Amino acid sequence: MRGLVAIPDKPHSTAVAEVPDPRPAEGEILLRTLEVGVCGTDREISEGVFGVAPPGRDALVLGHEFLGVVERDGPGFSRGDLVTATVRRSCGRCDACAGGSPDACHTGDYSERGITRLDGFASELAVESAEHLVAVPPSLGRLGVLAEPGSVCARAIRHACAVGERQPWRAERALVVGAGAIGMLSTYFLRLDGFEVWTAGRSPRTTAKAQLAEACGATYISTADVPLDALVDDVGGFDVVIEAAGDAQVMLDTLALLRRNGVACLLGVDGHTRKVSLDGRVLGVDTILQNRALLGSVNAHARDWEAAVEALDRARERWGDALEAFVGLRVALDCFDEAFEFQGVKATLQFGEA
Ligand SMILES: [Zn+2]
Ligand SMILES: [Zn+2]
Repeated sequence: MRGLVAIPDKPHSTAVAEVPDPRPAEGEILLRTLEVGVCGTDREISEGVFGVAPPGRDALVLGHEFLGVVERDGPGFSRGDLVTATVRRSCGRCDACAGGSPDACHTGDYSERGITRLDGFASELAVESAEHLVAVPPSLGRLGVLAEPGSVCARAIRHACAVGERQPWRAERALVVGAGAIGMLSTYFLRLDGFEVWTAGRSPRTTAKAQLAEACGATYISTADVPLDALVDDVGGFDVVIEAAGDAQVMLDTLALLRRNGVACLLGVDGHTRKVSLDGRVLGVDTILQNRALLGSVNAHARDWEAAVEALDRARERWGDALEAFVGLRVALDCFDEAFEFQGVKATLQFGEA
């Protein structure tokens, strides 16, 4: 069968190649791939700066944002069921992983499908254990391909709210920094939770991303027009800030964007070596006297996948046309280059029809 493979550590090695047909072991389910989302992680692997091939191999099958259909009945699933699959697998030697929370793995020696030590789903067929599959309702259909980025947002919001709710908390206003897939899905999920939401991005207010943010009732801010500190002066600070722009300076600045008891959660990754700075009083006075909190979040628990699928389906009911527009480019496997270069919210590789 055909799949999209890359040699981690080797820049620009990504190619369509023949890969062996998967053979389901006991408890595993044979899946037919419908669609695989592409994101910055895939680009980084493709650029040779991230990813690890499976043991004893040079090449890794890419693809961690999976939507597929069950090809053969298996435990809990029937032929024809739409499914997605969680990404991270247990390190095999910590209590978090043993308890079903590889998203909180203590050792960091987890593996991830399509990223580290395990092949991904960007191939015509795939296999996965039933325990790692998540059912996608038929009503959600192809939008189920957004489940993986959605799960990351669902975890971030769950954790931010858990931290906020450690004390009496007023959760009303949220700011999302970044208008890519993670920022946009966070915007929609926060709106579903009843937050008043501002979404800040670099694009001008007239672009499709701005319209997409505003379609769910959020207010879009172009940071070229309105710096975030000016927005805070205007709005009065936020109870939740989600940083999904991948800029360490902005991540630190989020502490100054919170109001009393506010929580900021960082999702974007910025690996540049540099110093970032903050007015000392924001950290040394305001963060303490106003009980502010800053945390990072990565990956997702199985419950976040369930929550994401459920939230996506509710978002589809409320803002269906807008949610459809999240996937701005669908291309065949051979045109993966176009998907990797796409500048909109989400591009996907198409493998087949349900
Ligand atoms: Zn991704
Ligand atoms: Zn672990």
